[in-house]
Amino acid sequence: MNRPVDEPVIYSERYARDTVMPRNGRMCEIQIEGVCRGMAETYQHRKRRGRCSPAERWAPSNGLAICGSGTTGCHGWIHRNPEAARERGWEVSAWDDPARESVWLRNPNILGMELYLLRDDGGLEIAPDDDPKRQNPQGRAV
Ligand SMILES: [Zn+2]
Repeated sequence: MNRPVDEPVIYSERYARDTVMPRNGRMCEIQIEGVCRGMAETYQHRKRRGRCSPAERWAPSNGLAICGSGTTGCHGWIHRNPEAARERGWEVSAWDDPARESVWLRNPNILGMELYLLRDDGGLEIAPDDDPKRQNPQGRAV
């Protein structure tokens, strides 16, 4: 049976974790220099859980696989630096759609950061050349 087109897909926590955690070979996806612990240890909601619609809560476009906890590693850095995290797309505002907000992630192929849009099937798309986050040098690497 077809779903009505206006009805959003609700992803399960299991699907989100199985899709996001291996997305960068189980390594931390943001790898902040001098902070990162290496392996992806926690699932970070880009839009805080309490601000998510049911459809956003476990959408892989809203998740990052990163190291640390609320106080350690890259996860702790995000919590301590919310404004800088937003400039990089690691956090998104309550009114933003995570699937349309680009994010700087470690690209293992170029050994540097690349600006991506995250798909809910676990795929990464390189963000357009005119994406505003490319114009902000503060938003690149840490
Ligand atoms: Zn890290």
